[in-house]
Amino acid sequence: MKPMFCPRCGVVAKPKRHTKGYFVIEVLLWCCLIVPGVIYSLWRMASREWVCASCRQPGVIPPDSPMAVAQQRTAVEAASRTRRAGSGS
Ligand SMILES: [Zn+2]
Repeated sequence: MKPMFCPRCGVVAKPKRHTKGYFVIEVLLWCCLIVPGVIYSLWRMASREWVCASCRQPGVIPPDSPMAVAQQRTAVEAASRTRRAGSGS
């Protein structure tokens, strides 16, 4: 997995795979009731998603996507503005 850009915290890092639900519940459902177990397993597989390694929020995007580039540029510009303001006129 390539590093991904997180629009929420601005981190570029390898995302983590996050599966919703609990493995314990899955096993219990399979042991007691087969049909809900199948449904639960399918739901867990379908809702699996990549989350930010830093803030654990879903919605990470490739760092070279237009949105990520724009956000990173804004962050750099904001940082340079603060530096200029700090050094005086
Ligand atoms: Zn994040």
